[in-house]
Amino acid sequence: MSQSTDTIFSKIIRREIPADIVYEDDLALAFRDVNPQAPVHILVIPKKPIPQLAEANGDDGVLLGHLLLVAKQVAEKAGLTNGYRLVINNGADAGQTVYHLHLHILGGRQLAWPPG
Ligand code: 5GP
Repeated sequence: MSQSTDTIFSKIIRREIPADIVYEDDLALAFRDVNPQAPVHILVIPKKPIPQLAEANGDDGVLLGHLLLVAKQVAEKAGLTNGYRLVINNGADAGQTVYHLHLHILGGRQLAWPPG
């Protein structure tokens, strides 16, 4: 399912709308979720507008690995020494609402398993 690649997250990358940005490099941006589901809830996104994980391709392997390493670094910087969860919602059944690939970093409380 391809949707417009110019989402609210592209506007955050371009600084057209404000966000609490906690990390940035040439390939990635991390900012606090506007509707946090845990005491720490940060989104890590690629600057490349990949709509969803299902649309990533073989050329994106290094970028996807980089996002995981950024998430690890951001989680450490946020003080999540007791653990955290990374979530990627892919598509309608997962409840994806913004079609720009993003990793949720959730932490700061005990998280239930399985998720809903
Ligand atoms: P999804 O449901 O697609 O996996 O997650 C999208 C996330 O983006 C949601 O947790 C939602 O709260 C967050 N979000 C949506 N719009 C904005 C925004 O304008 N700013 C920020 N910081 N987060 C947003």
